[in-house]
Amino acid sequence: MDSRLQQPIDTEIETASGGGPVPHVDVILVGAGLSGIGAAWHLQDRCPDRTYLILEGREAIGGTWDLFRYPGIRSDSDMYTLGFSFRPWREAKAIADGPSILSYVRDTAREAEINRNIRFRHHVKRADWSSAEARWTVEAERTDSGERVRFTCNWLHMCSGYYNYAEGYLPDFPAMDSFQGRLIHPQFWPEDLDYTGKKVVVIGSGATAVTIVPEMAKDAGHVVMLQRSPTYMVSRPSEDGIANWLRKRLPAKLAYDIVRWKNVLLQLFFFQLARKRPEKVKEKILEGVRDLLPPGYDIATHFTPRYNPWDQRLCLVPDADMFEAITKGSAEIVTGEIESFTPAGLLLKDGRTLDADIVVTATGLKLQLLSDVAFTVDGEAHNLSKALTYRGMMFSDVPNLSYSFGYTNASWTLKADLTSAYLCRMLNHMKTKGADMAMDSREPDVEEIPFLDFTSGYVKRALDILPKQGARKPWKLHQNYALDLASLRYGKIEDGVIEFSRASVRAKEAA
Ligand SMILES: Cc1cc2nc3c(=O)[nH]c(=O)nc-3n(C[C@H](O)[C@H](O)[C@H](O)COP(=O)(O)OP(=O)(O)OC[C@H]3O[C@@H](n4cnc5c(N)ncnc54)[C@H](O)[C@@H]3O)c2cc1C
Repeated sequence: MDSRLQQPIDTEIETASGGGPVPHVDVILVGAGLSGIGAAWHLQDRCPDRTYLILEGREAIGGTWDLFRYPGIRSDSDMYTLGFSFRPWREAKAIADGPSILSYVRDTAREAEINRNIRFRHHVKRADWSSAEARWTVEAERTDSGERVRFTCNWLHMCSGYYNYAEGYLPDFPAMDSFQGRLIHPQFWPEDLDYTGKKVVVIGSGATAVTIVPEMAKDAGHVVMLQRSPTYMVSRPSEDGIANWLRKRLPAKLAYDIVRWKNVLLQLFFFQLARKRPEKVKEKILEGVRDLLPPGYDIATHFTPRYNPWDQRLCLVPDADMFEAITKGSAEIVTGEIESFTPAGLLLKDGRTLDADIVVTATGLKLQLLSDVAFTVDGEAHNLSKALTYRGMMFSDVPNLSYSFGYTNASWTLKADLTSAYLCRMLNHMKTKGADMAMDSREPDVEEIPFLDFTSGYVKRALDILPKQGARKPWKLHQNYALDLASLRYGKIEDGVIEFSRASVRAKEAA
């Protein structure tokens, strides 16, 4: 590892505020979640002579896996694909609990000495690009003191996730204030909540509700999952038998790579099958549900969505825990629309009432791309929702800015890893070429299509704030690991679209 990265940056770079000198690094990463830690690892590995800093708004590493603390918090994709490409997942459970994922991210950061390059409690508020200087000035607010501090960098890579950390999504249900019990959003789970023996209603039918309901049902008096409409649910064992067998017999990294590819290919196969033969896949999913529930259970009402499989994300039920809770009677699904809250619980539009001591609003996330950062390019405010995404990691007409955004139909880290590795290739290419600026200029004839083609409520609500993708390469988002692997790992950096330039040449041309 390069000696500069070995030095504790605290002594090398002092945070500047007010009029003092502004510290400079080659790359700033925003966010110390799975994406930020993974990107830092790739930078250290592939660009060891480049300096970098991670600015993290919170006090800890882990992002999602540190923020969410609700009962049963777990992944809903397997850790062989949610884990980093470079670090084998060694635990028996492939569908892992939140604390194990958090330890995995933190251990990665500690072992690679990434921690020393993280500035915690630095919430990035704005980023201003200057083409003349070929650098970003990044301004962050210190969440402990409110002080504004500035840094400069040549490249800015946003690993800030995809949702608002300060607020979850909560529909404006009538008379919510009249409810006399406890109202809880899963994004802000109170540590002191004792639900033993309590009547609980969980509003929602997504991955969060499907995790919380069977877990709370173990101790609560009774748990109702109240859904407006059903979601496709698929049960899988939380342990991967093949993976555990291979891990005992092969070196850890080899076993990990084999299982990772097995899972990538299986996921691709099922996704493509769902797109080509939705009726067949729907029938198979419902057959699986029927096998796990008592005879005569109303599957048409509670488990049959109005859309096709993979028009929205499927919900994973590890070890059939949700179905077991329903069979035992400790959990129940109610399908209906909320008319209003009442002091005792909820009134539904069809007149039914649900009594509750606790209502959990598992109603989702507020999507937010690139956090709440305000961007300017050469003094002009840049609205990224108007931009076209380039290879799912940059924006048209914005130089030296990239972002990490995972798959909607597969594990996030598969794409985050490819993005980080591509970024390193590009930085190395720029170094060899002597370029200090990379920008994809939008071509006028590229047809725009929505960034995500999911029908989920949280995606539809956010389409206005998301950038667009193009109908053709390299502006098209594949949502397909194999195609992205070909494009990002083996594709040419000089693709005839992205332009690399040097400040001195730009200045001469301008003159
Ligand atoms: C409950 C839940 C379960 C999930 N389960 C899965 C799953 O099983 N499989 C899967 O593929 N995906 C899952 N996801 C998606 C998940 O978010 C990603 O897998 C992954 O954790 C994203 O990592 P990230 O580092 O990109 O973003 P995050 O984990 O969101 O981390 C972003 C970090 O950036 C910081 N940050 C944000 N804005 C700023 C700013 N302006 N300045 C400084 N710092 C900032 C945040 O504080 C945070 O630490 C899940 C999401 C949720 C909410």
